[in-house]
Amino acid sequence: MNDRLVRGIGVSPGVAYAPAVVVRWELPDVPDRTVSAGDVEGEVTRLHTAVSAVAAELDMLRQRVLQRAGEEESRIFDAQILMVSDVEFLKEVEYLIRNNQLSAETAFEFKSLELRNLWGTSGSARLRERVADLSAVQMRMLQRLLGVHEDRLWKGEEGERVIVVAHELSPGLTVQFDRDYVVGLVSEEGTRTSHAAILAHSLGIPAVMGAVGALSRITAGTPLLIDGQSGAVLLDPTPQEREETMAYIIRRRRLDFELQATLNQPCETADGHRIHLLGNVDLPEEIEPAQLNGAEGVGLLRTEFLVVGRANLPTEDEQATYFRRIADAFHDHQVVIRSFDLGGDKFPAAFQAPPEANPFLGWRSIRVCLDQPEIFRPQLRAVLRAAKDRPIKLMLPLVTTVEEVLESRALLTAESQALRSAGVPAAESVPVGVMIETPAAVIIADQLARVSDFFSVGTNDLTQYTLAVDRGNARLADRFTSHHPSIIRQLKIVAEAAARAGISASVCGEMASDPFSAILLVGLGFDTLSVSPQDLPLIKWVIRKVPVDAAREAAQRALDAATAEGVENAIREVVKQYIDMRLLGSGTLLPGRSRPANVQRAGTKM
Ligand code: PEP
Ligand code: MG
Repeated sequence: MNDRLVRGIGVSPGVAYAPAVVVRWELPDVPDRTVSAGDVEGEVTRLHTAVSAVAAELDMLRQRVLQRAGEEESRIFDAQILMVSDVEFLKEVEYLIRNNQLSAETAFEFKSLELRNLWGTSGSARLRERVADLSAVQMRMLQRLLGVHEDRLWKGEEGERVIVVAHELSPGLTVQFDRDYVVGLVSEEGTRTSHAAILAHSLGIPAVMGAVGALSRITAGTPLLIDGQSGAVLLDPTPQEREETMAYIIRRRRLDFELQATLNQPCETADGHRIHLLGNVDLPEEIEPAQLNGAEGVGLLRTEFLVVGRANLPTEDEQATYFRRIADAFHDHQVVIRSFDLGGDKFPAAFQAPPEANPFLGWRSIRVCLDQPEIFRPQLRAVLRAAKDRPIKLMLPLVTTVEEVLESRALLTAESQALRSAGVPAAESVPVGVMIETPAAVIIADQLARVSDFFSVGTNDLTQYTLAVDRGNARLADRFTSHHPSIIRQLKIVAEAAARAGISASVCGEMASDPFSAILLVGLGFDTLSVSPQDLPLIKWVIRKVPVDAAREAAQRALDAATAEGVENAIREVVKQYIDMRLLGSGTLLPGRSRPANVQRAGTKM
């Protein structure tokens, strides 16, 4: 069986069986072709016809995404539309056609390569994002000009269901998949916390990323069985393997039934210890699943989707409207708005950021906000305005110093006074929480607690910064584990610091969305978990099965463990006394990458 198994990371849960469609997101070969002087104007016309067609295609995709997902996601295409119709760029292409008598595709390719070289070597995450946009535009243009345009890219024959296999899935590509046809995704690059993975999860498409070697082994039409929890991709599954998977699916359906039954129950341990279970909202389309799945509010409202891929930053009004919309959807429940966490892998097209050798250690997040008050102040004003009569809180990402919190608070107070002087209806203030995402913040958690109204641990970044493992690097995915003893010990420090200061301690990183880790976190003393909307029912169900003392015992054993595997075994030993482990097992009974069967690594799914 192993020669038919490709192991990756389960990034969006669910099992899918369908033939593969291989998306070679590679630029077509462009022959160097010159044209006669008489054909030059014809080539210029061909260029503009292709530009119009591609712009219309992108606009059509934008509209489609707007209907299916929402305004913010549809903006991913704005940057590409702007790029393909950039007048200056097209003038330079025309110049090459007219003066060098190059064919439209040769000239377009030449100018695009020039731009790619310029941007690609800059080292800036923002420009890398632009290179990805440029590639998308280049691909569509060259396919048009070379006559190899594929209209039916995402569907199988006769609208058959397919699993898309690609080297890399960008958020722009992922968001355009039609769930009716694309029932699964496999990519060689990407991790649980990459943005394409988060989007696949939001769209409810089972996905496996970091499946190294998938493209060399999977050809178009190969039947695939994928498990978006364990990260297994099985080629040509036998009838027995399919049956086993069906048995698993049936068990899961029974579980789903049980999950449904807990929807209106409180989130409390088997012996009545109350935990607040909130939803993480990255996209507007997650509001509804979060509501339906019983979120007691939003524990992490990521605001980056308001800016990524857009030509301009959102206005204060636009942000206030968005925040009000979210808060109204959750009535009297709290909504925790995280200030812009820009930088790293999340820079908007509009943003002028200098190239950096180490963007994740660079100018990002709260540092950008504090250095660029013209970005931060309108966001603070929008938060205050939306918070009028609504239980909205503000949360600051990537804090490493007390001064960052004090400075942010001072800006908030200044904006509140300015709004009041101008007679604009707004809350006088809002609770300000700190994200604990760096070892620095953990170590000074007692000091941060004095200036914070609550803590929320971002385990994705905390793991990345503690272990010195890039969260987006598929090659390091096996090393990215929030079960490393160093993380467990830091979590304890944070929970204790919060308890001593009498403030709430929450976890909103991916770790909280994993059922085993959720028990560990409860046992460590966290009173709030904020998880992906799809995971709310499972997390509540697990919490309701286990008494708090057992969770504490699991936490104690985990704190004594020397390795990540020891931590995982410690949790399993306790949890299995209360839960049928097969229900949480992998669909194909196969492990994902370098992971013992049924052992969960934080940041991935079982
Ligand atoms: C985290 O780092 O765990 C987190 C919740 O923030 P993000 O994933 O948006 O960086
Ligand atoms: Mg983070």
